Amino acid sequence: MAAQETVDHKYVYDFSEGNKDLKELLGGKGANLAEMTNLGLPVPPGFTITTEACQAYLATGREPDGLAGQIEAHLESLERAMGKRLGDPQDPLLVSVRSGAKFSMPGMMETVLNVGLNDQSVEGLARQASGSAGQAASGGADRFAWDSYRRLIQMFGKTVCEVPGEEFEHALDEIKSARGTDNDLDLDADDLRGLVDAYKKIFLKHTGREFPQQPREQLDLAIRAVFESWNAERAVLYRRQERIPADLGTAVNVVTMVFGNLGPDSGTGVAFTRDPASGAQGIYGDYLANAQGEDVVAGIRNTVPLQELEQLDKSSYDELLGIMARLEEHYRDLCDIEFTIERGKLWMLQTRVGKRTAAAAFVIAGQLVDEGLIDLDEALHRVNGAQLAQLMFPRFQLDHEFAPVATGIGASPGAASGTVVFTSARAVELAAEGRSVILVRRETNPDDLNGMIAAKGILTSRGGKTSHAAVVARGMGKTCVSGADAIEVNVPAKRFTVAGQTVDEGDVVSIDGTTGKVYLGEVPVMPSEVVQYFEGSLDPEHIDNPLVRAVHRIMTHADGKRRLAVRTNADTGADAARARRFGAEGIGLCRTEHMFLGDRRELVERLILARAPGEREAALAALLPLQRADFEEIFREMDGLPVTVRLIDPPLHEFLPPLEQLAVNVAVAQERGEDVAKEEALLAAVRRMHEENPMLGLRGVRLGLVIPGLFAMQVRAIAEAAVSCTRGGGAAKPEIMVPLVGAVQELETVRAEAEKIIAEVVGDSGVEVLIGTMIEVPRAALTAGQIAEAAEFFSFGTNDLTQMGWGFSRDDVEGAFFWRYLELGIFGISPFESIDRDGVGRLIRIAAEEGRAARPGLKLGICGEHGGDPDSVHFFHEVGLDYVSCSPFRVPVARLEAGRAVVESGGSDSR
Ligand code: PEP
Ligand code: MG
Repeated sequence: MAAQETVDHKYVYDFSEGNKDLKELLGGKGANLAEMTNLGLPVPPGFTITTEACQAYLATGREPDGLAGQIEAHLESLERAMGKRLGDPQDPLLVSVRSGAKFSMPGMMETVLNVGLNDQSVEGLARQASGSAGQAASGGADRFAWDSYRRLIQMFGKTVCEVPGEEFEHALDEIKSARGTDNDLDLDADDLRGLVDAYKKIFLKHTGREFPQQPREQLDLAIRAVFESWNAERAVLYRRQERIPADLGTAVNVVTMVFGNLGPDSGTGVAFTRDPASGAQGIYGDYLANAQGEDVVAGIRNTVPLQELEQLDKSSYDELLGIMARLEEHYRDLCDIEFTIERGKLWMLQTRVGKRTAAAAFVIAGQLVDEGLIDLDEALHRVNGAQLAQLMFPRFQLDHEFAPVATGIGASPGAASGTVVFTSARAVELAAEGRSVILVRRETNPDDLNGMIAAKGILTSRGGKTSHAAVVARGMGKTCVSGADAIEVNVPAKRFTVAGQTVDEGDVVSIDGTTGKVYLGEVPVMPSEVVQYFEGSLDPEHIDNPLVRAVHRIMTHADGKRRLAVRTNADTGADAARARRFGAEGIGLCRTEHMFLGDRRELVERLILARAPGEREAALAALLPLQRADFEEIFREMDGLPVTVRLIDPPLHEFLPPLEQLAVNVAVAQERGEDVAKEEALLAAVRRMHEENPMLGLRGVRLGLVIPGLFAMQVRAIAEAAVSCTRGGGAAKPEIMVPLVGAVQELETVRAEAEKIIAEVVGDSGVEVLIGTMIEVPRAALTAGQIAEAAEFFSFGTNDLTQMGWGFSRDDVEGAFFWRYLELGIFGISPFESIDRDGVGRLIRIAAEEGRAARPGLKLGICGEHGGDPDSVHFFHEVGLDYVSCSPFRVPVARLEAGRAVVESGGSDSR
């Protein structure tokens, strides 16, 4: 019964059977090829083997039952449709075998072209090609056929049999240098025939077998290699970077070959329906005559702008433009496409909703709303907080001192300065030392991925907007300048030369990924226009900047949709003011321990270590006016908005002199015979209070309960500051927050004392002071029902909740072993960065539910670092918190994501 089910399971879909919504099953490429087929666009016939087949293969190490038969049946119907047989010696059908996962992973997995060629069919292909119009001379046809064959052996060898790619490249370089050329096109049919022999020898040497001559065996091995490429090292690394789940698997597309290398009336290209860098409307693409697809992406030969195709082949150009317009309307988004022209006939090889820069994402979303293709909810869905954060990156501040030494293509925006390195390994090495590096290469390939991840920016001397460096850097949001061809890169000598100057490894350069300009030395940076807009210095209604207008429009919509309020974490008036301009609707966390550093440290030391009577009281009395002034400043900046002030929560070691240092000082002074009675007393006190685990020691409410008068002084300062602001005509709304509470009794004790002071200070001023607690100890989350009896609000301290929920020391683990956990996939991202929904998230859910059950209307917020993390904001929306609080710079990101959370959870349009 089970076996019968397996046999019946459908693993192969003809292009006419799929559609764009089946990405999970057919991969992005397969689903979109099917969609284009169904739209009646010229797609070479083919079929897709599903991701389920790949998953089954990867789980068991063999093809699932039934797959071979289904491939056979689909191949037969393909052969019938084309009137050719795979690898037929007279007139061979050739196919490409291409990977295609649910999420695009550019260049990460494998492709094998020209499957079906062997020693006989290469002759048949030559004969067929010689009959074609564009291939007048049969010498050209022979050349084409042998070139196709050598490409098959090269790709098959490298991909399927792990033959080192350099060996093939080396053999090709040797033939080219023997012919005195560096252009592949100068090699004739005999050269390529010789190259095929050389390639076959390389193949035999490395695999111990002859290059397979059976077309079906070639096909099966290529399919298997694509399955396996899902787990290739670079693919695994890319997935981890991009947070793509590891178990999706790839689909495999088997597509009839069409040839862009059949002569001057053939060619291949890539195009975008809008500029993927700026979002501007127009035709953006590259075309390469007489070439196969990988030549364009690899940046091996220089392409021409797509517009030039109009002169070369007007009818294909017009048809292409018509198809691009149709695709954009159909997908209601920017599409990128790959196409081939075979002897004047246009074929579409791929389309997908194209990757774009952060700026283009906003601009395009705004344009599509204007064009009536999407509504504002959809526009909000199509941008995200990570993109907005990128737009808030600073840019170079340029004046006459800085003249560019080269200009390449602005392939991925941003401004990056750093030390020049020439290899991926060196980039990784220096980045590990905390240095900013710029990886400089002639061009990158997937083997450079580690270095690209480690680098601040990437600079290449070759390749266009669609080169590997450009595509991958854009995907990572990393600054990249490509094709700066004035630069001569010499990797072995670890230097490049440009405009008569030499730049060695270790020198500093600056690259501008928006303009493509390259500068020597470090260029200072200036803030982005988007930040200026948030700061209020750019009026979106009167500025001719499409990006600022689009950001304004989408942010306004997000604000209209969101249920979550957004507050900020700020401890100074300046931070509070900035956050308010960024849209903060209050302060969710004012950390008061920061106010006890600097000059005031000595007072705190006296307070904590006080021995003599009256010493503590004196220290507190000195601190009170200082604290009152701190709070007045913040209340003024946040006038009319709630301000949550957290009572002091220092890990004690941060406030005491370091034990070792003190011990040395005392010993030295004793040696000299000095009077050290005071220092000895201090040392004894520090020893007494020394903690092995300060993060789990005397901090937060525990300290407040141990040091008499400390919390009372702070409560008094808060209340007095609020009264003074209110009497001055303002409206202070203080919320006093008690840190590190684990038991309701702790909170009750603090509350009882605080209420007395507040009542005494506030009098009839009209000031209202709320008292609440952080929920950051797991026990507090689990006893939230009890704690809510004594709290008017909860604020989740997810930093400590993560620390104590996982048992991970916040100060140690990220450097110590998280890399290994990420490598093993134990988690895909640090739980300190993005909320662990299943574990820590569960504690939050429990506390929210039980807290609200005990006290309906209990105000709930979050003030840990997760408050500004895009994915975490969606979680906090789902669990029903009232607000998130984050650092000032992340306030716009949180506003945007809070709006997106409503749209994505199916909330109604509030317009
Ligand atoms: C927290 O623990 O999440 C928090 C906000 O407090 P702190 O980071 O100051 O410990
Ligand atoms: Mg904390």
